[in-house]
Amino acid sequence: MKSLAILGATGSIGRSALKIVRMHPDRFDVQVLTGATNVRLLAEQIQEFRPAMVAVLDRDRADELAKLLDADKRPEILWGEDGFETAAQWETADMVLLAMVGAAGLKPALAAIEAGREIALANKETLVMAGDLVMAKAKEKGVDILPVDSEHSAIFQCLQGNRRRDFKRIFLTASGGPFRTRPLDTFADITLADALNHPTWNMGHKITIDSATLMNKGLEVVEAVQLFGITQDEIEVLVHPQSIVHSMVGFKDGAVMAQMGVPDMMEAIAYAFSLPARLELSTGFPDFAALGALTFEAPDLKKFPSLEFAFEACRQKGTLPAVMNAANEVAVAALLEERIRFMDIFSLISEVMGRHTRIDNPDLSGIIEADYWARETAVSLIAQTSKPK
Ligand code: NAD
Ligand code: MG
Repeated sequence: MKSLAILGATGSIGRSALKIVRMHPDRFDVQVLTGATNVRLLAEQIQEFRPAMVAVLDRDRADELAKLLDADKRPEILWGEDGFETAAQWETADMVLLAMVGAAGLKPALAAIEAGREIALANKETLVMAGDLVMAKAKEKGVDILPVDSEHSAIFQCLQGNRRRDFKRIFLTASGGPFRTRPLDTFADITLADALNHPTWNMGHKITIDSATLMNKGLEVVEAVQLFGITQDEIEVLVHPQSIVHSMVGFKDGAVMAQMGVPDMMEAIAYAFSLPARLELSTGFPDFAALGALTFEAPDLKKFPSLEFAFEACRQKGTLPAVMNAANEVAVAALLEERIRFMDIFSLISEVMGRHTRIDNPDLSGIIEADYWARETAVSLIAQTSKPK
């Protein structure tokens, strides 16, 4: 029996993780659940999975949640940054699934590593912001960081049974998002609904927008550099619209290993939970005969400059990846509130990265300061340019 702490339980990844627990009650139990604001769903999850503790965004949400639960069945309810850190270090959990979205995942990730918990990592923003710190801490504490992001899970799976020194290249696949074939000269007309309409994956709003801008793939380039200890020059991004090949690894003898499956996060989450064992799931196999062909193409960097931003952030390192991530988070939030247009995301990130004075080898406070600076800068740029509706 493995005891889990699921941080970000009310989100897309968190709900998929709980489906796996539901299908395999003999293998997993849930000790900790966290959510931000959706206390109603969290209350349902608590009734079903009976965790020992939960954490939510703030005190008001904690009070609201407590009211939804019978006093005798209430777990310990905490809130805010301290609550999430306590959740990440909860004594009775063996493994922590980090499935919160955005920069809020960083401190819980560091807390879980500090406590020596095994980690299943979905929250890629953590590695983009502070990958050097996080990976060094994990090494120091002997903690395994198991990838949940489907591409990184694929790479991790392809590396099993091979020697690290034999691997030369990562082929990181991308669906291409909803605007892969849309001409650049119509990008100005893209609506929020267009951007939220992902062709192959069903995910939370932030990552769905990141997939439309291809910033998701940019973040994943940084994530791969950190997880697999390679350089950005050894990563080739390939657009693969069918989303069947989740990524590939090339070896020095020219062999290429691919990991495939239907576009569903259950498999990658389950693998992180139980490797090397594989769990029975109901996802099924791709219908290769119906698919007919799997296609690959180079990404269009004119349409999606976010990939360039990410490669540049990898090259320069220091505080620049954290600044890119923060500017992107602000831009995506502004798009979701329809305060900026789709195309503005690119100019905003580029402008904030261009204005940043980079610091080498930042410590945690240096990263948090850079993140804060980038958010402030992005917010003021948006205020200057956005016209009231
Ligand atoms: P989501 O928006 O569906 O869920 C996010 C979760 O984080 C929710 O439980 C929410 O309550 C919580 N949360 C939000 N803001 C918070 C805050 N400030 N403090 C604490 N908790 C907060 O997101 P998702 O699609 O499940 O993605 C979660 C993470 O996994 C992201 O980092 C994403 O990039 C990564 N990821 C997601 C997918 C996918 O298919 N959804 C695939 C690969 C990687
Ligand atoms: Mg991914």
